[in-house]
Amino acid sequence: MARSMRAIAVLPAQHEVKVLTAPEPRLQSPTDVRVRILEVGVCGTDKEICAFEYGTPPSGSEHLVIGHESLGEVVEAGPAVTKVRPGDLVVVMVRRPCDRPECVPCRAGRADFCSTGEFVERGINGAHGFMTEYVVDDERWLVPVPRSLRDVAVLVEPLTIAEKALLQVAQIQARLPWSCETRTRGWCHAAVVLGAGPVGLLGAMALVRAGFRTFVYSREAEGGAKDSLVRSFGATYVSSATTPPEGLPERTGGVDLVYEAVGLSRLAFEVMAHVERNGIFVFTGVAALKGPQPLDTDTLMRNLVLKNQVALGTVNAGRDAFEAAVADLGVFLERWPDAIREVITGRFPIEAHRDLLLGKPGGIKNLIALAN
Ligand SMILES: [Zn+2]
Ligand SMILES: [Zn+2]
Repeated sequence: MARSMRAIAVLPAQHEVKVLTAPEPRLQSPTDVRVRILEVGVCGTDKEICAFEYGTPPSGSEHLVIGHESLGEVVEAGPAVTKVRPGDLVVVMVRRPCDRPECVPCRAGRADFCSTGEFVERGINGAHGFMTEYVVDDERWLVPVPRSLRDVAVLVEPLTIAEKALLQVAQIQARLPWSCETRTRGWCHAAVVLGAGPVGLLGAMALVRAGFRTFVYSREAEGGAKDSLVRSFGATYVSSATTPPEGLPERTGGVDLVYEAVGLSRLAFEVMAHVERNGIFVFTGVAALKGPQPLDTDTLMRNLVLKNQVALGTVNAGRDAFEAAVADLGVFLERWPDAIREVITGRFPIEAHRDLLLGKPGGIKNLIALAN
């Protein structure tokens, strides 16, 4: 008899969100690993799934176990597993490749660039997620995490968004022969982060670490809690309440990179009009569809061409970004131990799931703790 465990799931057909019991998963192949989930981050994606905006159960299941921002501990490893062993901390990657032979990215191990759209994502689309006590997965989807990162490693997955963006920004900047040289001289480009939620704050930390003069642009007034948090890791907070987009260049001394993490298209394009020559604009937010809005497309197009600008959208992350996130979290914890811990607002028991997923809990990143 399989033992049973609790899981937080949505039942889209019934429009229900609830804790249900399911049999504990078992190893299915010699390279499978069983992971005891320690904690899972709650994010906007989870809330949207719980509002039934999207989210697809695995085929044959009425429910989808949600949660994709995981931290767990290996408790059992199949006989052919070589990369992890019981006791190791791991983060489980989210996206699985499509099975179409013609999908070059998936066949090359880069499902984050899947060209068919038929990929599966644990906790989101076609596979159960991590808001449960145990999960089983193949070792190739596990990212080992040092024990020293136990308190913050649940932030690895949300940090991968910025890491994938930074890897691409580095590739784009490599076209400019002077970009690396200026960094070693200590002078660096100015980056503006749009939004001060978890994705924005983690992105800002990654940008500071990468050597950018970093500004966080958000609604809250200057001098408040977000301002002091941002200042504590070496970035500057600029409030959109007092500085409109056209005032940004004066505050920042020019905008060379924008890292959009707010999901508001109008604001994003207003800021885009103020990007410098050779600048890069990275979109990471998924804007709600609110209908057409007026936009000065002539200016935007002229800027893109005449100023050699790049606009880039990015989603999900490959193993390289997960490993960069683990490395960077180690740096953040060493340089800004209070700031990185402050990104985690609280750890809550499974019973608090309704408030966290259906309510407006506030704070930055709330966690559901499944085990200690
Ligand atoms: Zn998320
Ligand atoms: Zn694919």
